[in-house]
Amino acid sequence: MEQLLSSSTEAPEYSSLLAEQREFFQTGATRTYIFRKTQLEKLYKAISDNERLILEAVNKDLHKSEFEGFFADVALILHEISYVKKHLHKWMKPTNIKTPLTHFGSRCKIYREPYGVNLVVSPWNYPFQLTFIPLIGAIAGGNTAIVKPSELTPNSSALITKIITDTFPIEYISCVEGGVEVSTALLKEKFDHIFFTGSVEVGSVVMRAASEHLTPVTLELGGKSPTIVDKSANLKLAARRIAWGKFFNSGQTCIAPDYIYVSSHIQKEFLSLLKEEIKRLYSEDPLSYKEYTHIVNDRHFKRLQNLMDGPSIYYGGKVDETTLVIEPTILTNVSWKHPVMNEEIFGPILPIIPFNSLDEVVMEINNRPKPLALYLFTENDSIKKRIVEEISFGGGSINDTLFHLTTPHLPFGGVGSSGHGSYHGIHSYKCFTHEKSVLSQTTKFDLSVRYHTTKGAQSIIRKLFK
Ligand code: NAD
Repeated sequence: MEQLLSSSTEAPEYSSLLAEQREFFQTGATRTYIFRKTQLEKLYKAISDNERLILEAVNKDLHKSEFEGFFADVALILHEISYVKKHLHKWMKPTNIKTPLTHFGSRCKIYREPYGVNLVVSPWNYPFQLTFIPLIGAIAGGNTAIVKPSELTPNSSALITKIITDTFPIEYISCVEGGVEVSTALLKEKFDHIFFTGSVEVGSVVMRAASEHLTPVTLELGGKSPTIVDKSANLKLAARRIAWGKFFNSGQTCIAPDYIYVSSHIQKEFLSLLKEEIKRLYSEDPLSYKEYTHIVNDRHFKRLQNLMDGPSIYYGGKVDETTLVIEPTILTNVSWKHPVMNEEIFGPILPIIPFNSLDEVVMEINNRPKPLALYLFTENDSIKKRIVEEISFGGGSINDTLFHLTTPHLPFGGVGSSGHGSYHGIHSYKCFTHEKSVLSQTTKFDLSVRYHTTKGAQSIIRKLFK
């Protein structure tokens, strides 16, 4: 890692780290099932052994409670490792593929091969989960990886580096800390695959850089994720599950409900239930409530404060500048002209928009960038069918929030400007491997129709390939 110790005025340079990883990858060591399984076991042990330190780090960085820290930054990682380890052997087997009559004598298979040297860049909101769950995919796929966690959560970043350095040799998996200058230097290098989680704006920077080397990219981005509450919904449960999904991690969740469309018939009742659920979860005084996460830094705190300007504050709105806490806040009388509707909120502010016709809702959502997530609360099956069929979004839940992310069986990812590619479970394995198609031809005979020299070949081909 000598190249990282260059003087601070020089831009960091990572070509020798990449060369070391490429050399290691080319030895073939990472490809065997036993190697991959052993590394997953090592990672499981490292996360378990460091559980207390992980909870302390996310508490120092974000004031995350033990419950939220354990759920999102420990349990989901351990569960993913167990799931992937259980199925990896089966996934690694080549898949036999049907051969058409036109290919008589041959056999077809799909092999999944590791990409090689990967870059994993992660954000700060769930620093451990969003670094290690992609890394599990990289390991399962038989790759090497360089990881770059976010500079905004320095305690978590330092611990991620320590866990990786203590668990893996740098020629296999290494971690580099730093901000934009480090990412920029890494992105100059030719990786075999880049996995980026972060904002839409930086996603396009990453994609531009990757295009220089034609490197495949997986982009896990963000945006505004709508929630629709129909008049047929079980309102009490809707309010409870929306309050939980929105204010978990103080709304600093990529798939948090960003804003709520609520049927004007039930708006009053829904708002009052939502208020009660917020109090039930975060007490009458969230600013000093221990289980409530704080805002990551001053810049985001000020940005969020400004987003409250314009609409009416129905509930909440108080802040504590010294501890960077913002109460769970419900906004009404919201218009698309207000700043809060013009960027991803990524904080504990929830605008409510009443609607009279579902047609308007569908049209409004479809006229905006495709959301990462969408949530629908209804008991009406035709509304469920309509929303799922007529609106494009990355993924979502009906009568719940966030839960589609917590199962390793469902692919997780965006669509359009909320990202492309997906991961979790087998989808992570697929995300970090290339699908290689191979046809094995018989040598027992040779079908002569392919040769122009064979009499009547063209008319046979015409018949076979119609
Ligand atoms: P960000 O895009 O600012 O930063 C993400 C990472 O990119 C960090 O490691 C950062 O150091 C690096 N980075 C920042 N500027 C860069 C640049 N110019 N060039 C290269 N790298 C750069 O995002 P963030 O603030 O850390 O996270 C919040 C965003 O991430 C939100 O938009 C949220 O929706 C999204 N997000 C998405 C998911 C998902 O799974 N889809 C998960 C969490 C967060």
